[in-house]
Amino acid sequence: MNDIRNALLGVITGDALGVPVEFTPREELRKNPVKGMRGYGTYNQPPGTWSDDSSLTLCLAEALTHPFDLNRIARSFVDWLYHNRWTPHGEVFDVGNTTGAALRNLKEGATPERSGLTGSASNGNGALMRIMPLLFEVKDLDDPMDRYQVIGQVAAITHGHIRSRLSCFYYLDYAISLLQGAQPREAYDQSNQNLLELMDKLNIDDSEAAHFNRLTSGNIDQLEDSDIGSGTYVVHTLEAATWCILNTQNFQESVLKAVNLGEDTDTTAAVTGGLSGLIYTADGIPAEWIQSLARLDDIEHVIDKLNKKYQQGE
Ligand SMILES: [Mg+2]
Repeated sequence: MNDIRNALLGVITGDALGVPVEFTPREELRKNPVKGMRGYGTYNQPPGTWSDDSSLTLCLAEALTHPFDLNRIARSFVDWLYHNRWTPHGEVFDVGNTTGAALRNLKEGATPERSGLTGSASNGNGALMRIMPLLFEVKDLDDPMDRYQVIGQVAAITHGHIRSRLSCFYYLDYAISLLQGAQPREAYDQSNQNLLELMDKLNIDDSEAAHFNRLTSGNIDQLEDSDIGSGTYVVHTLEAATWCILNTQNFQESVLKAVNLGEDTDTTAAVTGGLSGLIYTADGIPAEWIQSLARLDDIEHVIDKLNKKYQQGE
């Protein structure tokens, strides 16, 4: 089982599927749904082009091939924005507002503990979309508080508000349950329980905790398509990804469902794809999708290095 490869190729493939139709309204995609790797469209990029979601995921992945170091991770993000590190074709063509502001703060000398934005309006999905590689750093930490500390720090390089940190915690907890062999439904129930316990320990007030109510109710999968948001708000992305996972039976179906929700298509599909890759493995991802990915050799190289560090892989 090569879980690192499953998770990362899931994120990157999902991202690349969504890039050509980012910002497209749902009604439009209903008439002309994405069925495969299209290319061009919104940013006029060739098929297999991934965006900031994967760039920052790969920056984090590469930084984690070394011993954990928050400064190294932050530096690699800055290198992406200002020096095109881990770009698909040599240039940055998309950056979120909060991420851009935080990376500017870092460039101007802020420490990674202070660079991220902390206002409640700064809860876009920009930390969630890049957090997956951290799974392999935290998966063996038994105490949820220990996991939260590490995940919260890495989220907060750009997104320091508690809601963004908790969203990243929830996502990786879901992934940990999957690694431990839970079925998607069991993993969902487990994540809900873990989040509720963590929020209790952290003394999160009721009004903040309420933002997660639709997830922790345990019935997110029962919502209608029209109740699922697919914009950039982190809780909506987390809800949408969970909803897509719980309502589909294979990789292809899950990420296409995410893309065809419209709006922030690349990120919804990247976040869905990470979990879906863990569930259905890289063998469940259509080979032509993987083959189309920009810089696939470089991606595989980082995956190999992470496998060596965490001693996984075949
Ligand atoms: Mg993007």
